[in-house]
Amino acid sequence: MKEIIKIVLIFNALFTMFFSACIKPKKKEVITGVKIYKLDSGLKNIFDKFDYLGINTIFCSPQIDSLKDFISLAKKRNKRVFLIVTVFYNPEALKKDTSLYAVTNRGRIAKDDWVEFICPENEEYLKNRIKYIIDLIRIYNPDGISLDFIRQFVYWEMVMPETKPEDIERGCFCKKCINGFKDFSRIKIPEDLSTTTEIADWILHNHKKEWGVWESEQIYRSLEKITKQIKAVNPKILINLHIVPWRKTDYGNGIENIAGQNLKRMSQLADYISPMCYNHMLKRKPEWICSVVRDISRRSYKPVIPSLQVEKEYLETKVSDEEFRDSVNNGLKPPSSGIVIWNWETLMSCPGKIDIVRNAFTKVRKF
Ligand SMILES: [Zn+2]
Repeated sequence: MKEIIKIVLIFNALFTMFFSACIKPKKKEVITGVKIYKLDSGLKNIFDKFDYLGINTIFCSPQIDSLKDFISLAKKRNKRVFLIVTVFYNPEALKKDTSLYAVTNRGRIAKDDWVEFICPENEEYLKNRIKYIIDLIRIYNPDGISLDFIRQFVYWEMVMPETKPEDIERGCFCKKCINGFKDFSRIKIPEDLSTTTEIADWILHNHKKEWGVWESEQIYRSLEKITKQIKAVNPKILINLHIVPWRKTDYGNGIENIAGQNLKRMSQLADYISPMCYNHMLKRKPEWICSVVRDISRRSYKPVIPSLQVEKEYLETKVSDEEFRDSVNNGLKPPSSGIVIWNWETLMSCPGKIDIVRNAFTKVRKF
C-alpha cells in the first residue's frame, strides 16, 4: 500500500511540475527603448536622462562617439545596449564598388533618394559584413545586435496606403538573382526575353508568388549565416530585427513577396521583432500601430517591439503631442512587448514629448 501511495505522490509531483511549466507565463520583459545615432551631451548627462525617462534598452549606432565608454557605462547603469548594424544598406561600400548594387524590376540600380541597396546574392559582401559585425562584438561586447535593412530593396517609407503592389519598385533582378531563382524554383524563363524589365515583368506576371518565396529565401539564408556566426562568438547575444511595417494583407503580402521578410522563419533566428511603425510618415492613424503589432505577432514567435517616430519625416505637417501620445499608447497595447523611440536626438528637442515618454515608461513594468 505504502508503495502505491509513494508512486501516486511521485506521479502527482511530476504531473504538477509538468503542467506548471506549461502554464507558467513567460517572464514579461517590457522594452522601454530608444534609438540613438548621435550623442547630444556628455555621457553621464545622457544616462541620467535615460534614467529619468525610464529607458531600459538602447539601440545604438556603432558610429557614435566614445562607443566603448558608452557601453561600459550602460552596463554599470543597468541598461541593455543593442548595436544597430545595417546589412544590405551600405553607402560606403557602394561608393567604393558600384557593382554591388542590386537591380530593380525596372532595370535600374537600386537607388532612390537616400535608399540604396546591395544585391543579397553577393557572398563576398555578406562575408565582409559579417566580419564587421563579429569585430564589433569582440571589441565592444554589446548585449545585442539590431539588424537593420535585412531585406530586399524597397523604399517603403514612400509606399502610401493607396499604393498598388504592382507600382512598387523592387529588387533584386540582377542576372545572379534571376539565375538563382531559376535554379531554386525550376521555372523556365522564355529565351526570347532579354532585358531585365522584360524578364522581371514576365516573372511578376506569371510567377509572383514563387518569386516572393525566392526573395524571402535569400533574406532568410543571409540571416541564417549572420546569426550562426554571431552566436558562435557569443551564444548569449540577443538579436533584434528591423521589420517593414506591413501587415499580411498589405500590398499582396508585400512583407514577404516584396520585402522578402518571412517572419515565421526569420523570427526563429531572432529574439525580438521590431516593425518600424512610423505612422505619421505613412499617413496612418496611431491605431494602425496596434494592428501592425497584432498582425506581426501572429506570425512571429518572438516579442514584438514597435519603433515609433517622434517628429515629422518627409511630410510638412508636424507630429502633434496628442498624436505622439496616441502612438505611444497604441504601441504599448498587447500583444506589444514594449516600444522603441525613434530617435533620441529628435526626442530631446521636443519637451512635450519627453514628458509623454516619461509618463508612459515609468508606468510599465521593468525587467
Ligand atoms: Zn541580385
